[in-house]
Amino acid sequence: MSLVNFFQPENVTIQKVHYAGLIFDVLRLDKIHLSASGNKFFKLKYNLQKAQNEQKKMVLTFGGAFSNHIISTACAANACGFSSVGIIRGEEVENPTLSAAKAQGMHLKFVSRGQFRDKNDADFIQQLKEEFGDFYLIPEGGTNDLAIKGTQEISSLIPEEYDLIGVSVGTGGTMAGLVHSKREHQQILGFSALKGNWIEQEMLEMAATHEGWQIHQDLFFGGYARWKPELIELINDFYQKTGIPLDPIYNGKMIYGLLSAWKSGQISPDHNILAIHTGGLQGIAGFNARFGNIIEI
Ligand SMILES: *Cc1c(COP(=O)(O)O)cnc(C)c1O
Repeated sequence: MSLVNFFQPENVTIQKVHYAGLIFDVLRLDKIHLSASGNKFFKLKYNLQKAQNEQKKMVLTFGGAFSNHIISTACAANACGFSSVGIIRGEEVENPTLSAAKAQGMHLKFVSRGQFRDKNDADFIQQLKEEFGDFYLIPEGGTNDLAIKGTQEISSLIPEEYDLIGVSVGTGGTMAGLVHSKREHQQILGFSALKGNWIEQEMLEMAATHEGWQIHQDLFFGGYARWKPELIELINDFYQKTGIPLDPIYNGKMIYGLLSAWKSGQISPDHNILAIHTGGLQGIAGFNARFGNIIEI
């Protein structure tokens, strides 16, 4: 498939939600392609275009064993005619994410956590080029300038009437694109999935302004694969009542955070709210395999 054909954000809808007293809308980016879904679709677009312009035949990237970025890269690379290599953190394992990546033709190489930390190291990259041949490198999590150029295009799917836009934050590349492309009256409210204040500074660097955005950091539940029963209860109940599935790593926490901010009076009822569903539903199978079938989707 050509890049132009693959990178059409088809099937995106805006769904009205009335849940736990809060009325808001959800931008369903999760409906874009099954595997290369959500925000990763936008982050990959200009990177793969550059890879094609540079006549690379292969893309290589880094990620954890349950990473949405890994499966999205595998899927998009395959659809656009690239071979792909995933450098995976930790011991060799099997899980639904990695099986799906392999099914998309991705070659997986497992490296120790120590070696994984060298992912930006020129010597390590050179070693990988000797092993696999020339490739286009996409960083872990997929965030770079071209990714942010891509996530700016999410704004073209957001009608002007919304003035408060909620989004989940990992590396912040998606939120940075939104901050760059939003309309003046719109506020971007990020919900961090990770522990630590570093994201505030990173976001400031990427967004190049203090204006128009804010990150809630107290709802990460201890980090990526951490959770509490109330998060899982919300995900299951939200799905039952709205039909919208949420992943436990990003969007479950974002909706939980949005509702908490609403309940504690941090969000005024005058706002017209749009929550961006960034996808990541592939992660549910792996999460359930690890923790018991607690997510009923
Ligand atoms: C990667 C990811 C995010 C975080 O995106 P960043 O650009 O790294 O902040 C949010 N939601 C989902 C589903 C993701 O896969």
